[in-house]
Amino acid sequence: MIRAIFYDAGHTLVKPRAEFDEVWDFLAHQLGISIGEEHRGPFPDVAAFFYSRLGEDGLGSYASDRAALAFWTEYYAFALRDIARDLPIERIHSAGGALYDWYNDPEQWQPFPETIAALESGRARGLVQGVVSDWGSELLPILHAHEITRLMDFVVASAVVGSSKPHRDIFLYALGRANVAADETVYVGDSYLADVLGSRSAGLHPILIDRDGTSPPIDVPVVRSLADVVAVVDRMNAGES
Ligand SMILES: [Mg+2]
Repeated sequence: MIRAIFYDAGHTLVKPRAEFDEVWDFLAHQLGISIGEEHRGPFPDVAAFFYSRLGEDGLGSYASDRAALAFWTEYYAFALRDIARDLPIERIHSAGGALYDWYNDPEQWQPFPETIAALESGRARGLVQGVVSDWGSELLPILHAHEITRLMDFVVASAVVGSSKPHRDIFLYALGRANVAADETVYVGDSYLADVLGSRSAGLHPILIDRDGTSPPIDVPVVRSLADVVAVVDRMNAGES
């Protein structure tokens, strides 16, 4: 019997407000340079960068605020590698740090259109709901500002608890907070490695959210929207009875 739904935060419950052009403007301003149209493409794939860093960071990219800041600073330096080649690395890191702070402002995030209604339907089912996220300690005010915390029983941010996905410890910590068993809990996230493999290593039932419909067929339920999650839970519970 499924009694709880845990959710990833970034790109599952909330997404950045700004288009990437505005982010390029911010970085150009911070660096004191202009960044031409030819360089203003989409930012590099964060997930791919995260995977590539697993060898260096182990499973700890987000296990503290300092680690999260270092991860994003390195990521922005990577994104700027061709544009700011002649600038001192300290300046590039300083601009990346400023962008990290900018993203910790609740105004830079927004719920997906279906987020609140989906969480309300989970709550109406009497399900325990919580957030398990690789994020710095600013996660709680961000979720609070967007009225998500009122629909949650708890929020676990990796930098606060000292363990980050995909490590099983952060999921085990959340199960303790929720007072539910792993087998009674689904975990919804958009990353196969951090969310699906991580939660499964702790014994939870993963659901992948694939908003673009680009995931290959995988070995767990895939939904296109949070609005579909409760129906998956209902099916799992009906299948057991
Ligand atoms: Mg995510």
